[in-house]
Amino acid sequence: MIYLDNAATTKMSKTAVEAMLPYLENWYGNPSSLYSFGQKSKEALESARERIAACLGADPKEITFTSGGSEADNQAILSAAILGERKGKKHIVSTAFEHHAVLHTLEKLKREGYEITLLDVHPSGVVTPEEVAAAIRPDTCLVTIMFANNEIGTIQPIREIGAICREKGVLFHTDAVQAVGHVPVNVKEDNIDMLSLSAHKFHGPKGTGVLYARRGVRLFSLIEGGAQERGKRAGTENLAAIAGMAAALEEACGALEENRRRILPLRERLIDGLSEIPHGALNGDRERRLPGNVNFCFEGIEGESLLLLLDDRGVCASSGSACTSGSLDPSHVLLAIGRPHDVAHGSLRLTLSEGNTAEEIEETIGAVKEVVSYLRSMSPVWRDLEEGKKEHLL
Ligand SMILES: *Cc1c(COP(=O)(O)O)cnc(C)c1O
Repeated sequence: MIYLDNAATTKMSKTAVEAMLPYLENWYGNPSSLYSFGQKSKEALESARERIAACLGADPKEITFTSGGSEADNQAILSAAILGERKGKKHIVSTAFEHHAVLHTLEKLKREGYEITLLDVHPSGVVTPEEVAAAIRPDTCLVTIMFANNEIGTIQPIREIGAICREKGVLFHTDAVQAVGHVPVNVKEDNIDMLSLSAHKFHGPKGTGVLYARRGVRLFSLIEGGAQERGKRAGTENLAAIAGMAAALEEACGALEENRRRILPLRERLIDGLSEIPHGALNGDRERRLPGNVNFCFEGIEGESLLLLLDDRGVCASSGSACTSGSLDPSHVLLAIGRPHDVAHGSLRLTLSEGNTAEEIEETIGAVKEVVSYLRSMSPVWRDLEEGKKEHLL
């Protein structure tokens, strides 16, 4: 099997698995218990918090553990909305290509009377700080813009956007789920007020994540119950997963440069190889993207058929995000960067990790070329394009 879907989830690192085992096997005490067996768990929890904070340039008190990226996004946005409403500010700025954890939360707020401005994204897959500045109004309570896109991997000018928000006195949240552990992220230097991350995107366990909130930014709990996480997230902590997340994050942040050096040539070769397929195009800017992200559109094919045939050849790929597969709508991300419906349907996302090899990349290039030709040979749409009855768009 060739695993090229690391934006959907990653294999756990050995270090992360080993960091979890003591808490699954022996140290099962509740961190909230007063006896020393529970306090041992409490110490492990706080140690994980300190180490995660250090990786982000944050203070441990600014770290809240959540069940993952989706919960962190929900809590960040809903907290800012509550704070905004108290000041009579009910306008939020975001982009059209956010993850659904952000977009669906914003839709909910819209139904509750908030005004949402979704900025257009350029064909390069980037929003500019100037556009963000122009969208901010006196009643804006939050700007939420993702650090790196989960489908096309493009990286946003987060530091500049953060600086603008700070200057205008507006809270700034970033969904950094795809960025943390893959590119340098520092909440202080990057002017970030709130940030979401998820362990399973950097070789940690699924079902655990973090919401960073700068000191002074008040969070409201989504879950009623005990006083865990200083009252900001009720429920007994998933200590094993949190310990695994801390170990995975330290490992990923320590190897950031090394992993980048290993993955980048593979990505470049994959892009070059797939660029040889006629009437196809890379989605998003080639430079300003995550080291492991490749995303193409090919005219005259259906992304779903492409994925199934690649699966037959042992290649795990995606056509968009894991969350949209199963739906027949084209990716909202590809539509947001201006790809027409027909073209957006024929998309392929391949996301690499440092475990991939040059041989796997060559095999994948060969497999994609064959499968695309095969699908086109059977496609009525492709026949119309070839016979000139329809115009090629790519
Ligand atoms: C995966 C992902 C999420 C959701 O994280 P979960 O931990 O799976 O809930 C949110 N945002 C982005 C950009 C993602 O890639």
